[in-house]
Amino acid sequence: MEKKAFTSAQTFLQCINCQHTADLLDERTFSCPKCGSLYDVVHNSDVSKLLDFNAYTKIFDERAQSKHHLYLNPRSRSGVWRFQEWIMPYLPTQYITTLGEGNVPIVRAGRYLQAWIGDIELWIILEGMTPTGSFKDFGGTVMISVAKAAGINAIGCASTGDTSAMAAAYASAAGMRCVVVLPKNLVTAAQIAQPLVHGATVIMLPGTFDVCMRVVRELVQAGLLFPANSLNPTRIEGHQATVFLTAQFFNWELPDFFGVPVGNGSNGSSIGKGIRTMQSFGYTGKIPHILGCQSEAAHPLSLSWLKACDARQKNVESAWREIYKPQMSVGVTTATAALIGNPVSWQKVIREVVHTDGMMNIVPEAMLNEAVAVCGKDGHFVCPQTGTVLAGIKQAVESGQIAKGSRVVAVSTANGLKFTESATMGLQDTIIHAQDCNTETVAKIMGF
Ligand SMILES: [Zn+2]
Repeated sequence: MEKKAFTSAQTFLQCINCQHTADLLDERTFSCPKCGSLYDVVHNSDVSKLLDFNAYTKIFDERAQSKHHLYLNPRSRSGVWRFQEWIMPYLPTQYITTLGEGNVPIVRAGRYLQAWIGDIELWIILEGMTPTGSFKDFGGTVMISVAKAAGINAIGCASTGDTSAMAAAYASAAGMRCVVVLPKNLVTAAQIAQPLVHGATVIMLPGTFDVCMRVVRELVQAGLLFPANSLNPTRIEGHQATVFLTAQFFNWELPDFFGVPVGNGSNGSSIGKGIRTMQSFGYTGKIPHILGCQSEAAHPLSLSWLKACDARQKNVESAWREIYKPQMSVGVTTATAALIGNPVSWQKVIREVVHTDGMMNIVPEAMLNEAVAVCGKDGHFVCPQTGTVLAGIKQAVESGQIAKGSRVVAVSTANGLKFTESATMGLQDTIIHAQDCNTETVAKIMGF
């Protein structure tokens, strides 16, 4: 038998509910056989934590400044693998497939957004500035690299758009096949174009994302599909880079708040895990609160959180778990990438929001679209899910949940270019159609 890339004594899977363990490289269904819950990836701490916190951050800072001669080393090339010791320490470099993801800008709110959001220090991490235009690439590079180490040659996923683009791109780069299952009429033209261009098999179902996810889960359970969705917890390992990049940007300090949109729950889960990972490596600074934001159209976690708070029980986590139920029918929103009534990672979101003493918000549709428009004026074309976060932050500032002067980092999950239709809905009428191609005509329209 061929030697494994790493042993289950080094890195393994552990059920988040009953602690049952499994071998990461042998696992194909990513669901606990004893209780059906999700897995966490766990690394053997005795061996992986060889250095102290400052020694690691020094290494990561050096890699961030690496020049071209180190380009072929994924730890220099990728802003995710830069943090390999904190993400997937035992994976040999030969299995790593990177598209150069992770090196995204962290920008201060522009003047329009600053005036709109209120009196806080707001930053946006622009995760739409990645190879496939969304934050999914952070997790995708880790998911595909571990799949390669496990000997997988075909992957698949259900998607509201961004996951399928990521899965298709990374599968192709790694030399694997990819099948994506999408809800008809609920993903944008750009999001259909991406998996097609990357060579995936695209299957459209006449239903919602939740229906697509059920079908994919059944295919996974039957052993017919290796999952690229975030039920595959190697995705969450890579998404932790959001936290590490932010900490590195602020000289290894974390902000007061992370604002994230919550769809299937991978972002909320990974922000929380990233914070806990930093703590386990010796970080002693402040712990940011997670603010999870959902639209009025799909808000199962926000609604149950608000109800759990109203119940005023001592243990918010257990009250929240008891009250939580999936939203059987979703509404209409431009934030289609988060239009999910039955999020796969709901248990992890609850765990992480509670651990960070965080909160959840429900955002009105008009307000999230307004946020996208405001960002556009500042020169940042962000997706409607980013709009959901920004609107949620504004609500929290207005209600006093976020104190004045707080440093808040909003996770911008995707590029607005994937959502041109909704963003320009009210603007198409402002286009002036000239009757001819004469310079004089244009000058006249300009008012001269
Ligand atoms: Zn279990």
